[in-house]
Amino acid sequence: MDLGIAGKRALVCASSKGLGRGCAEALADAGVDLVMNARGTDALEAAAHDIRLRYQVNVTTVSADITTESGRAAVLAQGPFDILVTNAGGPPPGMWSDWSREDFIKALDANMLTPIALMQAVLPGMIAQGWGRVVNITSVSVKSPIAVLGLSNSARAGLTGFVAGTARQVAGKGVTINNLLPGIHATDRAIALDGAVVKARGISMEEAISERAATIPAGRYGTPSEFGATCAFLCSQHAGFIVGQNVLLDGGATNTTL
Ligand code: NAP
Repeated sequence: MDLGIAGKRALVCASSKGLGRGCAEALADAGVDLVMNARGTDALEAAAHDIRLRYQVNVTTVSADITTESGRAAVLAQGPFDILVTNAGGPPPGMWSDWSREDFIKALDANMLTPIALMQAVLPGMIAQGWGRVVNITSVSVKSPIAVLGLSNSARAGLTGFVAGTARQVAGKGVTINNLLPGIHATDRAIALDGAVVKARGISMEEAISERAATIPAGRYGTPSEFGATCAFLCSQHAGFIVGQNVLLDGGATNTTL
């Protein structure tokens, strides 16, 4: 399917690996020029090099921590953008009784206030040109809490509330904002979580992965490329009537009717 967005320009945050990279690749496959971001320079440059070769699009890299004001300023200096994909690392797991005010502020900064600041920066340009697409990578935890990820549950719930209202305020200007909610995907983050189970229970990595995969009706982890393809569709011309939605990509793991 022609997504109708060739020649557009996208900022894809936290995109040298994992789900962000999946989104960057799928947008590049649709002919979109990219600004890619991550903190580590080597993986970012390698990913950008691969994408330029494979898809013949322009790729600019900005190594910066997107959760800092200076990092966001460096990335936003590469604008204007037609498409924004927000993403950053998730907060660490823990216990509800242990988190301090500082822990909450850090999680809110990374997973709520950063995507909000990025939207506030790019939405005026999108509104002025009468077209724009924003996709926020959040988590299945906004629909179904993951108890040990209370910092993530809290911060992402705040972002979800902001998007719910704001998406309706900008939809009439040709700009859509939606959230993509990943369940378990085969990325470094998932491997790190499986590694912790291997260590705690003395089982093999294969056992840890197959135990977790068995909790997913699809019987497997999701892939960054299928996640990216959904992101690219939400950024396409065809998705202009999809507004303020929370799209669950979890292989059926969240047991809800609606
Ligand atoms: P990942 O494989 O660990 O990749 C994270 C990417 O983000 C890397 O390119 C990393 O590069 C970059 N990054 C991290 N923090 C950054 C920062 N502060 N500034 C700029 N770049 C940053 O993670 P993932 O699995 O793709 O997860 C992406 C998001 O989805 C996370 O918020 C995660 O919590 C959420 N999520 C993932 C899953 C899953 O199963 N994978 C499930 C639910 C939710 P550098 O380290 O070099 O900066």
